[in-house]
Amino acid sequence: MYIENVTISSNEEIAMGIWRMSMNAPKIAAAYIGPGQFINILPNDNWEHPIRRPMSIASVNGNIVEIIYKIFGDMTHQLSRKNSGETINILGPLGNVFTEWDKKEVDPILIGGGVGLAPILNVYESCKNPIMIIGAKTAAEHFMEHDPKNNIYLTTDDGSMGIAGNALKAIDEIDVNENSFIFACGPEPMLHALQKYAIGKNIRAQLSVESYMGCGVGLCQGCVIERQNGQVQKHSYHEKYSLVCLDGPVYECSEVTFG
Ligand SMILES: Cc1cc2nc3c(=O)[nH]c(=O)nc-3n(C[C@H](O)[C@H](O)[C@H](O)COP(=O)(O)OP(=O)(O)OC[C@H]3O[C@@H](n4cnc5c(N)ncnc54)[C@H](O)[C@@H]3O)c2cc1C
Repeated sequence: MYIENVTISSNEEIAMGIWRMSMNAPKIAAAYIGPGQFINILPNDNWEHPIRRPMSIASVNGNIVEIIYKIFGDMTHQLSRKNSGETINILGPLGNVFTEWDKKEVDPILIGGGVGLAPILNVYESCKNPIMIIGAKTAAEHFMEHDPKNNIYLTTDDGSMGIAGNALKAIDEIDVNENSFIFACGPEPMLHALQKYAIGKNIRAQLSVESYMGCGVGLCQGCVIERQNGQVQKHSYHEKYSLVCLDGPVYECSEVTFG
């Protein structure tokens, strides 16, 4: 894990409120081990926002690390105002990775909801013949084409593009078999629904969880989630709970407890 002052090489809006930023981060790029990992960003060197913001790594090419982010609040707004040539401070690579998507007997179903698409696109780039489902609120938030012939399914909550509804609606339209394996990242209600679906249908799944996060290195304990690892002991903090920054963000489907 490294802290680097990195130079932004590009930062552009690719859909309504959705931005893609590339940065030259040689140390973090060299230490990166795969899709699922994230960086923790400090956009400005002042006391206005002293807490970093986590962003999934969308791709690594040579020294260039790319993120895809949505403007939520002040920090992401500030990030969107950065120009190429400016520097930001990032910590990473952090977290674990999706596994098994590259196994021969696995038919990956990649599902990204909202900004959860970043790590999902990252897996997509390395996968052979995956099915991909990307969900958004409305057409303007999508930057790809709905293309079922090529196994790319887009959904919108308002029905303005692709399949009307959420990712679960799209799963109904695809061929799910015993080799299917879901890899998903997105908001908690989507992950919760997918967890129920996968367990109900006996389909394997890995879920990347987006919890609130502070330090990213296990000190602040801000990103804790309840975890079922089969060895939970009463009052045992470390058995019952998990820090998304250290143990995650990717969990086996039945391991996490939502809401
Ligand atoms: C491991 C991980 C990976 C992530 N990857 C990405 C990514 O690739 N792209 C991306 O756009 N975002 C990602 N996020 C979420 C991102 O970190 C938050 O959107 C960001 O912190 C918002 O910062 P802000 O200052 O702009 O907004 P804030 O002012 O901090 O928050 C604005 C609003 O967003 C809500 N919010 C903030 N953070 C979260 C969160 N983590 N979960 C749910 N709601 C939140 C707040 O309640 C508030 O309503 C990731 C989060 C985690 C934990």
